[in-house]
Amino acid sequence: MHISTLKLISLLANHLTGKSILVREREPATANTWGEAHKTEGGQLVIDLSPKIPDHKRLYVILHEIAHHKRHNFLATKVYKAKPGTLEQEPSTLHSRLSEGGANMQAAEWQAWAEQHAQV
Ligand SMILES: [Zn+2]
Repeated sequence: MHISTLKLISLLANHLTGKSILVREREPATANTWGEAHKTEGGQLVIDLSPKIPDHKRLYVILHEIAHHKRHNFLATKVYKAKPGTLEQEPSTLHSRLSEGGANMQAAEWQAWAEQHAQV
């Protein structure tokens, strides 16, 4: 993605969450994911977006990761500096399933709103 597209996504994330979020186009540290939301040890919220997201999935992945930052307060981690694809996915838990389900519902709601209101 062009840097101006990443800046636009960062502005969208700020608008939807009220939080300042750094958006990077980068293979996420967690293996086999298209997007990852996390927080640095310095407190910066981050979204990593894989360059391999298919076009028809990209908006949904972006909105899903923004939804995580809207709904959850992340603990600081070293994920921001881990090498791409080197971290195992966390085992599925009730908490993680609720968290993913909530982010999916919010992303679907935002995408439906966008499709209803955008004029393209
Ligand atoms: Zn998620």
